[in-house]
Amino acid sequence: MNVKNEIIKYGRILFEMGLTESSHSGNISVRHGNKIFIKKHGTMMGSLSEDDIVEISLVDQKNYDIASSEVYSHVEIYKNTESNAIIHAHTIYAIVLSISENTDRIVPVDAEGKYYLKYIPVIDIENPVASKELAMSLGYVMKEHKMAVVKGHGTFARGKDLGEALKNLTLVESISKIIYLNKVYKNSL
Ligand SMILES: [Zn+2]
Repeated sequence: MNVKNEIIKYGRILFEMGLTESSHSGNISVRHGNKIFIKKHGTMMGSLSEDDIVEISLVDQKNYDIASSEVYSHVEIYKNTESNAIIHAHTIYAIVLSISENTDRIVPVDAEGKYYLKYIPVIDIENPVASKELAMSLGYVMKEHKMAVVKGHGTFARGKDLGEALKNLTLVESISKIIYLNKVYKNSL
């Protein structure tokens, strides 16, 4: 499967899993050497075509203007890690926790979450959407972490390929959903 079809496939999976809370949000990219294939700005995650994916480079900024608005975040994560795939989505439960809990981390309470990681960092910055500040923060934090939640915005996850990036992204949402439902359940008793 070529890289554009791979991105189209994972866009559809994100949509079908309910991880694209608004139709055009989120972004996906894959790195091949210095080249990055990334979803274009303003395209619909669940029904991407090959024309909706643009090839850019880590060494110049050609076509960054038509790429996803989070293109600088993807670039900084690639520059700082060995990963070859990144998925960003507006994961509702992680967003709710990041807003509601005044904390710099989400700590899993379920067995699977605890097995895979101690915590997920929450990035709290002044300009949390499509900013250089976000790009620099993600590049720094994701050197050590495969996933990060941006307060009030959503989750970024990286992996060796899109399969691993999706696994990491959905793990964050699963951990967040269990924490959320556990609190709701306890408060209803
Ligand atoms: Zn976003």
